[in-house]
Amino acid sequence: MQKSNKILVLNCGSSSIKYALFTADERELCHDIVENIDSNKTHTKAIQNILLSLQQQKYVSSYSEITAVGHRVVHGKDMTQNHIITKKIQKKIKEAGVLAPLHNPHNIEGIIAIQKLLPKIPNIAVFDTAFHTTIPEYAVLYGIPLSLSKKYYIKRYGFHGISYQYICEELKKKLGKIPGKLIICHLGNGSSICAIKNGKSIDTSMGFTPMEGLMMGTRCGDVDVGAVFHIAAMRKECRDIDHILNFESGLKGIAGTNDMRMIWKKTQQKNKTAQLALDMYCYRLQKYISAYSAVLGGIDALVFTAGIGENAWYVREKVCQSLSCLGITLDRKKNRENKEKIHTGKTKVYVIPTNEEKMIVREVGRLL
Ligand code: ADP
Repeated sequence: MQKSNKILVLNCGSSSIKYALFTADERELCHDIVENIDSNKTHTKAIQNILLSLQQQKYVSSYSEITAVGHRVVHGKDMTQNHIITKKIQKKIKEAGVLAPLHNPHNIEGIIAIQKLLPKIPNIAVFDTAFHTTIPEYAVLYGIPLSLSKKYYIKRYGFHGISYQYICEELKKKLGKIPGKLIICHLGNGSSICAIKNGKSIDTSMGFTPMEGLMMGTRCGDVDVGAVFHIAAMRKECRDIDHILNFESGLKGIAGTNDMRMIWKKTQQKNKTAQLALDMYCYRLQKYISAYSAVLGGIDALVFTAGIGENAWYVREKVCQSLSCLGITLDRKKNRENKEKIHTGKTKVYVIPTNEEKMIVREVGRLL
Protein backbone atom coordinates (compact mmCIF):
# COMPACT_ATOMS: atom_id res chain seq x y z
CA MET A 1 0.00 0.00 0.00
CA GLN A 2 1.34 3.44 -0.95
CA LYS A 3 1.99 6.04 1.71
CA SER A 4 -0.31 8.63 0.07
CA ASN A 5 -3.27 6.28 0.45
CA LYS A 6 -5.70 7.06 3.23
CA ILE A 7 -7.58 4.66 5.42
CA LEU A 8 -10.88 5.46 7.06
CA VAL A 9 -11.66 3.75 10.36
CA LEU A 10 -15.31 3.41 11.39
CA ASN A 11 -16.73 2.37 14.72
CA CYS A 12 -20.50 2.29 14.28
CA GLY A 13 -22.59 2.15 17.43
CA SER A 14 -26.35 2.26 17.91
CA SER A 15 -26.58 6.04 18.20
CA SER A 16 -23.11 7.25 17.25
CA ILE A 17 -20.31 6.71 14.76
CA LYS A 18 -16.70 7.27 15.77
CA TYR A 19 -14.40 7.76 12.83
CA ALA A 20 -10.76 8.52 12.11
CA LEU A 21 -8.73 9.07 8.97
CA PHE A 22 -5.15 7.82 8.78
CA THR A 23 -2.38 7.74 6.25
CA ALA A 24 -1.19 4.25 5.32
CA ASP A 25 1.88 4.79 7.53
CA GLU A 26 -0.39 5.11 10.57
CA ARG A 27 -0.41 8.90 10.91
CA GLU A 28 -3.75 10.13 12.18
CA LEU A 29 -5.15 13.02 10.13
CA CYS A 30 -8.37 13.54 12.07
CA HIS A 31 -10.91 11.86 14.28
CA ASP A 32 -14.39 12.75 15.43
CA ILE A 33 -17.71 11.37 16.56
CA VAL A 34 -21.14 11.82 15.00
CA GLU A 35 -23.93 11.41 17.51
CA ASN A 36 -27.73 11.17 17.50
CA ILE A 37 -28.00 8.50 14.81
CA ASP A 38 -31.66 7.48 14.52
CA SER A 39 -34.30 6.61 11.94
CA ASN A 40 -34.05 10.11 10.40
CA LYS A 41 -30.28 10.39 10.55
CA THR A 42 -29.36 6.86 9.46
CA HIS A 43 -25.87 5.34 9.43
CA THR A 44 -25.77 5.80 5.64
CA LYS A 45 -26.67 9.49 5.88
CA ALA A 46 -24.20 10.05 8.71
CA ILE A 47 -21.38 8.33 6.80
CA GLN A 48 -22.26 10.36 3.71
CA ASN A 49 -21.83 13.50 5.85
CA ILE A 50 -18.55 12.21 7.27
CA LEU A 51 -17.16 11.73 3.74
CA LEU A 52 -18.39 15.15 2.72
CA SER A 53 -16.78 16.81 5.72
CA LEU A 54 -13.46 15.00 5.08
CA GLN A 55 -13.49 16.55 1.63
CA GLN A 56 -14.65 19.99 2.77
CA GLN A 57 -11.94 20.09 5.43
CA LYS A 58 -9.44 19.05 2.77
CA TYR A 59 -8.34 15.84 4.46
CA VAL A 60 -9.00 14.26 1.06
CA SER A 61 -9.25 16.07 -2.25
CA SER A 62 -11.34 13.27 -3.75
CA TYR A 63 -12.86 10.09 -2.32
CA SER A 64 -10.51 8.05 -4.48
CA GLU A 65 -7.77 8.87 -1.95
CA ILE A 66 -9.58 6.63 0.54
CA THR A 67 -8.28 3.23 -0.43
CA ALA A 68 -9.76 1.08 2.33
CA VAL A 69 -12.13 1.24 5.26
CA GLY A 70 -11.39 -0.60 8.50
CA HIS A 71 -14.47 -1.43 10.57
CA ARG A 72 -14.30 -2.17 14.25
CA VAL A 73 -16.58 -5.18 14.56
CA VAL A 74 -17.37 -6.11 18.13
CA HIS A 75 -18.23 -9.79 17.71
CA GLY A 76 -16.54 -12.24 15.35
CA LYS A 77 -18.00 -15.38 16.97
CA ASP A 78 -15.40 -18.08 16.23
CA MET A 79 -13.41 -16.05 13.70
CA THR A 80 -9.83 -16.16 14.87
CA GLN A 81 -8.55 -13.56 12.44
CA ASN A 82 -9.51 -10.24 10.94
CA HIS A 83 -10.80 -10.39 7.37
CA ILE A 84 -11.37 -8.50 4.16
CA ILE A 85 -15.15 -8.39 4.04
CA THR A 86 -16.48 -10.75 1.39
CA LYS A 87 -20.11 -11.84 1.12
CA LYS A 88 -19.25 -14.89 3.22
CA ILE A 89 -17.59 -12.84 5.97
CA GLN A 90 -20.43 -10.33 5.97
CA LYS A 91 -22.88 -13.20 6.47
CA LYS A 92 -20.80 -14.46 9.40
CA ILE A 93 -20.75 -10.99 11.00
CA LYS A 94 -24.52 -10.82 10.59
CA GLU A 95 -24.90 -14.26 12.18
CA ALA A 96 -22.73 -13.20 15.11
CA GLY A 97 -25.30 -10.42 15.67
CA VAL A 98 -27.39 -12.88 17.71
CA LEU A 99 -24.54 -12.86 20.23
CA ALA A 100 -24.00 -9.08 20.14
CA PRO A 101 -27.37 -7.54 19.34
CA LEU A 102 -26.32 -4.13 20.69
CA HIS A 103 -23.27 -3.94 18.43
CA ASN A 104 -22.96 -6.13 15.31
CA PRO A 105 -26.15 -4.97 13.56
CA HIS A 106 -24.79 -1.40 13.66
CA ASN A 107 -21.36 -2.52 12.46
CA ILE A 108 -23.15 -4.17 9.52
CA GLU A 109 -25.06 -0.95 8.80
CA GLY A 110 -21.74 0.87 8.53
CA ILE A 111 -20.35 -1.78 6.18
CA ILE A 112 -23.42 -1.63 3.93
CA ALA A 113 -23.29 2.17 3.88
CA ILE A 114 -19.67 2.16 2.68
CA GLN A 115 -20.43 -0.51 0.09
CA LYS A 116 -23.08 1.85 -1.30
CA LEU A 117 -21.09 5.07 -1.04
CA LEU A 118 -17.62 3.82 -2.01
CA PRO A 119 -18.39 0.60 -3.90
CA LYS A 120 -14.93 -0.03 -5.29
CA ILE A 121 -12.82 -0.08 -2.14
CA PRO A 122 -12.16 -2.97 0.24
CA ASN A 123 -13.78 -3.10 3.66
CA ILE A 124 -11.88 -4.84 6.41
CA ALA A 125 -13.41 -6.23 9.60
CA VAL A 126 -11.25 -6.03 12.71
CA PHE A 127 -12.83 -7.98 15.56
CA ASP A 128 -12.74 -7.22 19.26
CA THR A 129 -13.05 -10.92 20.00
CA ALA A 130 -10.38 -12.43 17.69
CA PHE A 131 -7.49 -11.84 20.13
CA HIS A 132 -9.16 -14.07 22.72
CA THR A 133 -9.72 -17.13 20.52
CA THR A 134 -6.51 -18.58 22.00
CA ILE A 135 -8.09 -18.95 25.47
CA PRO A 136 -8.14 -22.68 26.34
CA GLU A 137 -11.47 -24.50 26.45
CA TYR A 138 -11.40 -24.97 30.24
CA ALA A 139 -11.29 -21.20 30.70
CA VAL A 140 -13.73 -20.45 27.90
CA LEU A 141 -16.64 -22.63 28.99
CA TYR A 142 -19.11 -21.92 31.78
CA GLY A 143 -20.25 -24.62 34.19
CA ILE A 144 -23.61 -25.05 32.48
CA PRO A 145 -24.70 -28.16 30.52
CA LEU A 146 -22.32 -28.65 27.62
CA SER A 147 -25.29 -29.27 25.32
CA LEU A 148 -26.60 -25.75 26.08
CA SER A 149 -23.19 -24.16 25.53
CA LYS A 150 -22.95 -25.89 22.15
CA LYS A 151 -26.52 -25.23 21.06
CA TYR A 152 -26.48 -21.52 21.86
CA TYR A 153 -22.74 -20.79 21.44
CA ILE A 154 -22.47 -19.83 25.10
CA LYS A 155 -18.86 -19.30 26.13
CA ARG A 156 -16.35 -16.63 27.05
CA TYR A 157 -15.63 -14.58 23.94
CA GLY A 158 -13.98 -11.60 25.65
CA PHE A 159 -13.72 -8.11 24.19
CA HIS A 160 -11.25 -5.18 23.93
CA GLY A 161 -9.04 -7.52 21.87
CA ILE A 162 -7.98 -4.75 19.48
CA SER A 163 -6.70 -2.73 22.42
CA TYR A 164 -4.85 -5.70 23.93
CA GLN A 165 -3.19 -6.46 20.62
CA TYR A 166 -2.12 -2.84 20.27
CA ILE A 167 -0.57 -2.79 23.76
CA CYS A 168 1.29 -6.05 23.03
CA GLU A 169 2.74 -4.54 19.87
CA GLU A 170 3.70 -1.35 21.71
CA LEU A 171 5.50 -3.42 24.37
CA LYS A 172 7.32 -5.34 21.65
CA LYS A 173 8.47 -2.05 20.11
CA LYS A 174 9.55 -0.60 23.45
CA LEU A 175 11.10 -3.69 25.09
CA GLY A 176 12.09 -5.79 22.08
CA LYS A 177 9.67 -8.53 23.16
CA ILE A 178 6.30 -9.03 24.76
CA PRO A 179 6.79 -9.96 28.44
CA GLY A 180 6.07 -13.70 28.83
CA LYS A 181 3.67 -13.29 31.76
CA LEU A 182 1.69 -10.16 31.09
CA ILE A 183 -1.48 -8.68 32.56
CA ILE A 184 -3.17 -5.76 30.82
CA CYS A 185 -5.94 -3.73 32.47
CA HIS A 186 -8.07 -1.89 29.93
CA LEU A 187 -9.93 0.53 32.19
CA GLY A 188 -12.29 2.71 30.21
CA ASN A 189 -15.99 3.18 30.59
CA GLY A 190 -16.07 -0.50 29.72
CA SER A 191 -13.32 -2.18 31.74
CA SER A 192 -11.69 -5.56 31.33
CA ILE A 193 -8.45 -7.34 32.15
CA CYS A 194 -6.49 -9.92 30.20
CA ALA A 195 -3.91 -12.56 31.11
CA ILE A 196 -1.43 -12.93 28.25
CA LYS A 197 1.14 -15.72 28.09
CA ASN A 198 3.86 -15.44 25.46
CA GLY A 199 1.75 -12.95 23.51
CA LYS A 200 -1.47 -15.02 23.58
CA SER A 201 -4.62 -14.34 25.56
CA ILE A 202 -5.20 -17.16 28.05
CA ASP A 203 -8.02 -15.55 30.01
CA THR A 204 -10.02 -12.35 30.11
CA SER A 205 -12.66 -10.95 32.42
CA MET A 206 -15.40 -10.07 29.93
CA GLY A 207 -17.29 -13.17 28.90
CA PHE A 208 -20.22 -14.12 26.71
CA THR A 209 -21.12 -10.44 26.85
CA PRO A 210 -19.13 -7.39 27.98
CA MET A 211 -21.11 -7.45 31.24
CA GLU A 212 -18.94 -9.97 33.09
CA GLY A 213 -15.83 -9.27 35.12
CA LEU A 214 -14.66 -5.96 36.52
CA MET A 215 -17.07 -3.37 37.80
CA MET A 216 -17.36 -0.78 35.02
CA GLY A 217 -18.70 2.68 34.32
CA THR A 218 -22.31 1.56 33.96
CA ARG A 219 -22.03 -2.25 33.71
CA CYS A 220 -22.29 -4.42 36.79
CA GLY A 221 -19.40 -6.83 36.20
CA ASP A 222 -19.55 -10.18 38.05
CA VAL A 223 -22.86 -10.67 39.81
CA ASP A 224 -24.51 -13.82 41.12
CA VAL A 225 -27.05 -14.88 38.46
CA GLY A 226 -29.28 -15.93 41.35
CA ALA A 227 -29.50 -12.26 42.35
CA VAL A 228 -30.60 -11.37 38.83
CA PHE A 229 -33.38 -13.97 38.97
CA HIS A 230 -34.41 -12.61 42.36
CA ILE A 231 -34.60 -9.03 41.06
CA ALA A 232 -36.68 -10.26 38.11
CA ALA A 233 -39.04 -12.14 40.42
CA MET A 234 -39.44 -9.21 42.84
CA ARG A 235 -40.03 -6.69 40.05
CA LYS A 236 -42.31 -9.12 38.17
CA GLU A 237 -40.60 -7.73 35.09
CA CYS A 238 -37.38 -8.73 33.45
CA ARG A 239 -37.29 -6.75 30.21
CA ASP A 240 -35.60 -3.76 31.85
CA ILE A 241 -33.04 -5.80 33.82
CA ASP A 242 -30.68 -5.98 30.87
CA HIS A 243 -30.80 -2.19 30.71
CA ILE A 244 -30.21 -1.83 34.46
CA LEU A 245 -27.20 -4.18 34.41
CA ASN A 246 -25.69 -2.60 31.28
CA PHE A 247 -26.45 1.09 31.73
CA GLU A 248 -27.47 1.82 35.32
CA SER A 249 -25.01 -0.27 37.31
CA GLY A 250 -21.26 -0.20 38.00
CA LEU A 251 -19.80 3.11 39.21
CA LYS A 252 -22.98 4.88 38.18
CA GLY A 253 -25.17 2.50 40.14
CA ILE A 254 -23.15 3.06 43.31
CA ALA A 255 -22.00 6.69 43.08
CA GLY A 256 -24.53 8.17 40.66
CA THR A 257 -21.90 8.94 38.01
CA ASN A 258 -19.67 6.88 35.75
CA ASP A 259 -17.11 9.66 35.39
CA MET A 260 -14.07 8.61 37.42
CA ARG A 261 -12.88 12.25 37.65
CA MET A 262 -16.13 13.19 39.35
CA ILE A 263 -15.94 10.19 41.68
CA TRP A 264 -12.41 11.15 42.73
CA LYS A 265 -13.49 14.76 43.34
CA LYS A 266 -16.36 13.57 45.48
CA THR A 267 -14.11 11.27 47.53
CA GLN A 268 -12.00 14.32 48.33
CA GLN A 269 -15.17 15.91 49.73
CA LYS A 270 -15.67 12.78 51.86
CA ASN A 271 -18.66 11.58 49.87
CA LYS A 272 -19.38 8.06 51.14
CA THR A 273 -20.94 6.50 48.05
CA ALA A 274 -18.17 7.85 45.83
CA GLN A 275 -15.60 6.30 48.20
CA LEU A 276 -17.54 3.02 48.17
CA ALA A 277 -17.63 3.01 44.35
CA LEU A 278 -13.87 3.63 44.15
CA ASP A 279 -13.18 0.94 46.78
CA MET A 280 -15.35 -1.59 44.95
CA TYR A 281 -13.80 -0.79 41.58
CA CYS A 282 -10.24 -1.18 42.89
CA TYR A 283 -10.95 -4.26 44.98
CA ARG A 284 -12.42 -6.17 42.03
CA LEU A 285 -9.37 -5.23 40.00
CA GLN A 286 -6.97 -6.40 42.72
CA LYS A 287 -8.74 -9.75 42.86
CA TYR A 288 -8.48 -10.27 39.10
CA ILE A 289 -4.81 -9.24 38.96
CA SER A 290 -4.02 -11.74 41.73
CA ALA A 291 -6.03 -14.50 40.06
CA TYR A 292 -4.43 -13.90 36.67
CA SER A 293 -0.97 -13.82 38.14
CA ALA A 294 -1.75 -17.29 39.55
CA VAL A 295 -2.94 -18.67 36.20
CA LEU A 296 0.12 -17.19 34.47
CA GLY A 297 2.40 -18.73 37.09
CA GLY A 298 3.72 -15.29 38.05
CA ILE A 299 3.75 -11.85 36.53
CA ASP A 300 6.50 -10.08 34.59
CA ALA A 301 4.58 -6.95 33.65
CA LEU A 302 1.33 -5.17 34.45
CA VAL A 303 -0.03 -2.53 32.08
CA PHE A 304 -2.74 0.06 32.68
CA THR A 305 -4.50 1.57 29.68
CA ALA A 306 -7.65 3.46 28.50
CA GLY A 307 -9.32 6.50 30.10
CA ILE A 308 -9.10 5.42 33.76
CA GLY A 309 -5.98 3.26 33.38
CA GLU A 310 -4.00 6.04 31.72
CA ASN A 311 -5.14 8.92 33.93
CA ALA A 312 -6.50 7.86 37.30
CA TRP A 313 -3.26 7.58 39.32
CA TYR A 314 -5.31 7.06 42.50
CA VAL A 315 -6.85 3.89 41.02
CA ARG A 316 -3.41 2.51 40.09
CA GLU A 317 -2.03 3.49 43.52
CA LYS A 318 -4.89 1.87 45.43
CA VAL A 319 -4.89 -1.29 43.31
CA CYS A 320 -1.14 -1.82 43.50
CA GLN A 321 -0.87 -1.00 47.23
CA SER A 322 -1.87 -4.49 48.29
CA LEU A 323 -0.05 -6.35 45.51
CA SER A 324 3.48 -6.18 46.89
CA CYS A 325 3.22 -9.98 47.39
CA LEU A 326 3.35 -10.16 43.58
CA GLY A 327 6.49 -7.99 43.44
CA ILE A 328 4.41 -4.95 42.49
CA THR A 329 5.49 -1.68 44.07
CA LEU A 330 4.99 1.74 42.54
CA ASP A 331 7.12 4.84 42.30
CA ARG A 332 4.56 7.18 43.87
CA LYS A 333 5.80 10.28 42.09
CA LYS A 334 6.04 8.73 38.65
CA ASN A 335 2.63 7.13 39.10
CA ARG A 336 1.07 10.47 40.04
CA GLU A 337 2.63 12.02 36.95
CA ASN A 338 1.18 9.27 34.69
CA LYS A 339 4.69 8.35 33.53
CA GLU A 340 5.17 5.29 31.33
CA LYS A 341 7.31 3.24 33.73
CA ILE A 342 5.94 3.49 37.24
CA HIS A 343 7.44 0.49 39.09
CA THR A 344 10.18 0.22 41.68
CA GLY A 345 9.73 -3.52 42.34
CA LYS A 346 10.71 -6.52 40.25
CA THR A 347 7.38 -6.63 38.42
CA LYS A 348 7.30 -4.01 35.70
CA VAL A 349 4.30 -1.68 35.75
CA TYR A 350 3.55 0.50 32.74
CA VAL A 351 1.01 3.12 31.74
CA ILE A 352 0.58 2.85 27.98
CA PRO A 353 -2.07 4.74 26.02
CA THR A 354 -4.15 2.49 23.82
CA ASN A 355 -5.02 3.32 20.23
CA GLU A 356 -7.58 0.97 18.76
CA GLU A 357 -7.97 3.01 15.56
CA LYS A 358 -4.25 2.77 14.84
CA MET A 359 -4.38 -0.98 15.43
CA ILE A 360 -7.23 -1.25 12.91
CA VAL A 361 -5.21 0.70 10.33
CA ARG A 362 -2.25 -1.63 10.93
CA GLU A 363 -4.45 -4.68 10.39
CA VAL A 364 -5.88 -3.14 7.21
CA GLY A 365 -2.31 -2.69 5.97
CA ARG A 366 -1.46 -6.31 6.82
CA LEU A 367 -4.53 -7.72 5.10
CA LEU A 368 -4.16 -5.72 1.90
P1 ADP B 1 -14.56 4.24 26.44
O1 ADP B 1 -13.63 4.27 25.24
O2 ADP B 1 -14.85 2.89 26.98
O3 ADP B 1 -15.76 5.12 26.30
P2 ADP B 1 -12.45 5.73 27.77
O4 ADP B 1 -11.25 4.90 27.53
O5 ADP B 1 -12.57 7.00 27.04
O6 ADP B 1 -13.77 4.87 27.63
O7 ADP B 1 -12.53 6.02 29.32
C1 ADP B 1 -13.62 6.67 29.94
C2 ADP B 1 -13.38 6.71 31.44
O8 ADP B 1 -12.11 7.33 31.68
C3 ADP B 1 -14.42 7.51 32.21
O9 ADP B 1 -14.72 6.85 33.42
C4 ADP B 1 -13.69 8.79 32.53
O10 ADP B 1 -14.16 9.37 33.70
C5 ADP B 1 -12.27 8.30 32.70
N1 ADP B 1 -11.29 9.37 32.51
C6 ADP B 1 -11.05 10.10 31.41
N2 ADP B 1 -10.10 11.03 31.64
C7 ADP B 1 -9.75 10.89 32.94
C8 ADP B 1 -8.84 11.58 33.82
N3 ADP B 1 -8.09 12.59 33.39
N4 ADP B 1 -8.75 11.15 35.07
C9 ADP B 1 -9.50 10.11 35.52
N5 ADP B 1 -10.39 9.45 34.77
C10 ADP B 1 -10.51 9.82 33.50
